[in-house]
Amino acid sequence: MTNCVFCGIVKGDIPSTKVYEDDHVVAFRDINPQAPVHVLIVPRTHIGGLDGLEGAADAALAACLRAAHIIAKQEGIAGSGYRLAANCGAHACQTVGHLHFHLLGGRQLTGEMG
Ligand code: 5GP
Ligand code: ZN
Repeated sequence: MTNCVFCGIVKGDIPSTKVYEDDHVVAFRDINPQAPVHVLIVPRTHIGGLDGLEGAADAALAACLRAAHIIAKQEGIAGSGYRLAANCGAHACQTVGHLHFHLLGGRQLTGEMG
């Protein structure tokens, strides 16, 4: 989709620090990290968010979820634990309209997600 920053990152038009890629997924470091490990996992195809999953390929979603543990192992946080979070819509402060999962870890996270 034109004007989508994460589509730009997937295509390589916008620079990012990629940590993982497969046929369905690209993962890269968040530009404004909230934890020592803060990686964004996005499907290669443009899906607007959790609210855009109806009609989307199951493989894209499965690959996003599966990538989380692969990356956690890579980043050395699989044992200490991590959080996978997706914001949907205004109240959740979603700012980028391309489905993405925040992989957070490397410190004790609080119970409150906000
Ligand atoms: P949201 O608030 O939509 O759940 O999260 C969007 C995330 O994308 C934010 O954590 C923000 O820091 C990150 N982000 C926004 N623009 C860019 C960018 O151009 N590059 C990278 N690496 N992260 C970005
Ligand atoms: Zn996009």
